[in-house]
Amino acid sequence: MEQSILKKYAELLVFAGGNVQKGQPVVISGNVADADFVRMVQDAAYDAGASDVSIDWQDDTVTRTTYLRAADHIFEMYPDWRVDRFKFYDERGAVYLHISSSDPDLLAGVNPERIKTLTKVSRQKLKPHSALTMSNALRWSVLAVPSPKWAAKVFPNLPQEQAIAKLWQAILKAARADGENPIAAWQKHRENFTERKNFLNAKQFDKLHFTNKLGTDLLVGMPKNHVWVGGGDVGKDGIPFFPNIPTEELFTAPNRNAVNGKVVASMPLSYQGNLITDFAITFKDGRAVEYSAKNNEEILKNIIEMDDGSHYLGEVALVANSSPISQMGILFYNTLFDENASSHLALGKAYPDCVQGGSTMNDEELLKAGINDSLMHVDFMFGTADMQIVGIATDGTETLLMQNGEFAF
Ligand code: ZN
Ligand code: ZN
Repeated sequence: MEQSILKKYAELLVFAGGNVQKGQPVVISGNVADADFVRMVQDAAYDAGASDVSIDWQDDTVTRTTYLRAADHIFEMYPDWRVDRFKFYDERGAVYLHISSSDPDLLAGVNPERIKTLTKVSRQKLKPHSALTMSNALRWSVLAVPSPKWAAKVFPNLPQEQAIAKLWQAILKAARADGENPIAAWQKHRENFTERKNFLNAKQFDKLHFTNKLGTDLLVGMPKNHVWVGGGDVGKDGIPFFPNIPTEELFTAPNRNAVNGKVVASMPLSYQGNLITDFAITFKDGRAVEYSAKNNEEILKNIIEMDDGSHYLGEVALVANSSPISQMGILFYNTLFDENASSHLALGKAYPDCVQGGSTMNDEELLKAGINDSLMHVDFMFGTADMQIVGIATDGTETLLMQNGEFAF
């Protein structure tokens, strides 16, 4: 890939994604295999005026070996020094930038108990940190670069070099980073969401009714004063940022206790190196009461049964079937991309700013407002080319919001 394009992509992450301000510390997490790009992002962060840039290096091979060979009890602990490291940067108001490139099959064949145990303990220990990011008290952003294994998974019939080149192309296109001025393209992208967002926020639907031929028939109750978010976010300090590059979704939090019916997934869910396929979940008064999957039902079980909150929904997101990512027709095996190809739901924690005043509410107040809490937040796709969505007002009047997968308002 051309250096000038990579430089623009790195700058997109820093200036638009995290929107790094003068004097701010920056923490970048990235793979050792992507060192050149990580260093480019570091440079861009200093160009933006960062006071200091720390790199949290990851290594897929080391991670996999640890999961396969470490002693059982290792997965029951998460070291305090890691928690302190986050605390040190959180207290200084750092911007967190993530560069994702992982092999979708990284943890395939690893004992799911190990993954489940470590996920739970690390999320418990890092709850204060994730509360800050999820309430937009800290800015963060994630984008992706290809790795040979990821490229081979997405394009299994191409020789390695071609597969990587093709994945780069797809990533940059999806990320609107293949043009002259990606940062300007993203400003425009943000503005395009405004009208629909304002419409939905003004309407304050009581329920959304999702149906399609795949078998989804789901009523999603909405909390009072819910807020639709899309085309980026705004930090508590008023500074705009884009948590996800790409992003094509309009989303909010459902009322955790008012979801009823059945949802059938329209795409497989790639979760920590395992692919859950052909799955469906039935909800009663918000709670997942029944579920099944053709492959890896055990992994789906681990997600849903992680804690009480993981039985409930924390996100409902609308994506048009004509979104550039959907039109590419590529399964990326990476939620960052796949969630932008299709309307989706998430099991687990909701973003507090999806209800008015949510970012200043405590856990109890959020729960009372119908906003779900969990250690998990796992997106799964259920949008299809024939998806229909009807918004139902408190007085029962209906508004068609989506027909044949396209926005109808
Ligand atoms: Zn989403
Ligand atoms: Zn999500």
